Amino acid sequence: MPELKKKDRKTYHAAWYVANRERILAQSSRYKLANREKTKEQRVKWYAEHFEEHSAAMAKWYIANREKVKVRVNTWQSANPEKLKAATRKFDVVHRIERRGKAAEYRAANPEKVKFAAKKWATAHPESVRNYVGKRRALKKKSTVGNLKEISAWIKSWRDKPFVDCHWCKQLFPGKECHADHVIPLSKRGSHSLENLVVSCPGCNMLKKDKMPDEWAEFRKPADA
Ligand SMILES: [Zn+2]
Repeated sequence: MPELKKKDRKTYHAAWYVANRERILAQSSRYKLANREKTKEQRVKWYAEHFEEHSAAMAKWYIANREKVKVRVNTWQSANPEKLKAATRKFDVVHRIERRGKAAEYRAANPEKVKFAAKKWATAHPESVRNYVGKRRALKKKSTVGNLKEISAWIKSWRDKPFVDCHWCKQLFPGKECHADHVIPLSKRGSHSLENLVVSCPGCNMLKKDKMPDEWAEFRKPADA
């Protein structure tokens, strides 16, 4: 190579690298494969020696390329749903204890905040709350629990309607006032499932309490019948 100025040398090297990129990369990965332990050692050593510097550079790069990273991550995740699932599961298992400890610490240190957040969440997720309460009640009574998603969808189908038929008295009531009522009461081992649920107005719901269907029919019979 003739004598080149520093700048020219740099340009020359860059051009050479671009022209031979494939070959260089192939060679490099061949070398890494053949010298796995050695390159690993080198890498570990390098990271240990340059930890601060490397972290700072990574953080800076990440901030500058946030959108790019997001797109890349999303693309990878939607292309590898199974791998993502497995990785998430693994992460959960590995960090479970740590996470629980941290969560408990936070709860103990911020009781008011936790209470507020829980209330906010509950207001935003009435269905989840209903599911949770329904399931808890059913489990407490040792009843079987059906498909909560189905129950949720069913409740949603009438909850916001201006008028809904009460299954028992056949009168119309605003959906918001109505209850999901267990035909066979939970306390009598009725299941918390779609097959055992009907819409009830608040009055019927209150009167029925935990009567079995036949007792309830008897109760509702007009006195002069
Ligand atoms: Zn009714």
